Amino acid sequence: MIPYENLKRLNEPFEAEYKTAFNAVLEKGHYILGHKLELFEQEFAAYHSAKYCVGISNGLDAIILALKALDLPAGSEVIVPANTYIATVLAVIACNLTPVMVDPDINTYNIDPAKIEQAITPKTKVLLVVHLYGKMCDMDPIMQLKQKHGLYLIEDCAQAHGATYKGKLAGTFGEFGAFSFYPTKNLGALGDAGGVICNTEAHRDSLMQLRNYGSSRKYYNDVVGYNNRLDEMQAAFLSVKLPHLNRMNAQRNKLADLYLANLPSKYILPAKNKDYYDVYHIFNIRYPQRDALQQYLQDKGIGTVIHYPVPPHRQKAMADIFAGQEFPIADEIHNTTLSLPCSFCHTESEIMEVINVLNNY
Ligand SMILES: *Cc1c(COP(=O)(O)O)cnc(C)c1O
Repeated sequence: MIPYENLKRLNEPFEAEYKTAFNAVLEKGHYILGHKLELFEQEFAAYHSAKYCVGISNGLDAIILALKALDLPAGSEVIVPANTYIATVLAVIACNLTPVMVDPDINTYNIDPAKIEQAITPKTKVLLVVHLYGKMCDMDPIMQLKQKHGLYLIEDCAQAHGATYKGKLAGTFGEFGAFSFYPTKNLGALGDAGGVICNTEAHRDSLMQLRNYGSSRKYYNDVVGYNNRLDEMQAAFLSVKLPHLNRMNAQRNKLADLYLANLPSKYILPAKNKDYYDVYHIFNIRYPQRDALQQYLQDKGIGTVIHYPVPPHRQKAMADIFAGQEFPIADEIHNTTLSLPCSFCHTESEIMEVINVLNNY
């Protein structure tokens, strides 16, 4: 039996350190907005050579607060990829902004820069790009569009901790890099957690106010805020894991390289390009009879997941918003994609076993 993911096993190497971190917080008796959070924020900012990191309750709220910090007029348009996880689109809607979806590139599964310009209108204010599956978007043309049209850029880095494009880290290209530390992510906490990196003091201050009831000074509220803080316990656990992020990503790369070298061409494999360091949050293949293949693998004891079975524009919740709009590339990806085991918890021999089963199919 090879599970798609096993969080207990993934976290085992860190258990002793987690217990020390837990005890330290318990002993201190300070649970919200304390030293552990400040420490993790400094470490995560330093990892990115960014000026600031603001810890946030989860990845969805991280995107919401980044959008809120831009203080845009209601109804402003935000460009998002059509094949993202629903959270990206929900964040835009939660801010009373209008999501404008752009179809992805069939080779990279990321937003197709060539299709962005035709979606830009006078109301467009933000490019909200998603580095899906752990591969960064094609950032050169995206940065050109940002400059040319004077747009803000927010990167949804929930699947791309440590990924690079031409040597530059995910989250460091735009005004904000928004991260999720949900337990399954490349840098995962032991519960819900998130964060935003940025480089101006004004943006940092705004995020810190918004996450704490709109207040910088206790019981004095300057803006309408929320309760979106990252707690001390999760921050302490994240500080344990962050020093291992590059090594964990390297392990995922090693496993991905086994797939890339040994899977037959009947499966469409993820593109690999020297300009990109992919961190394989998800290692997906595409196959026309995907559901039958998934069933076969399950019968052989191999767990797989579909990321994602239904694209945002076909979700019941979004029926009114995207009525009549077509995103054929997103549909094609959703209909054929299958994610294989490729986690820090997996061994090379397990992956060779998956490869063996796929070769015999
Ligand atoms: C996981 C994820 C999010 C949301 O993160 P949460 O911490 O679960 O709220 C947002 N965007 C993408 C692309 C994700 O994969």
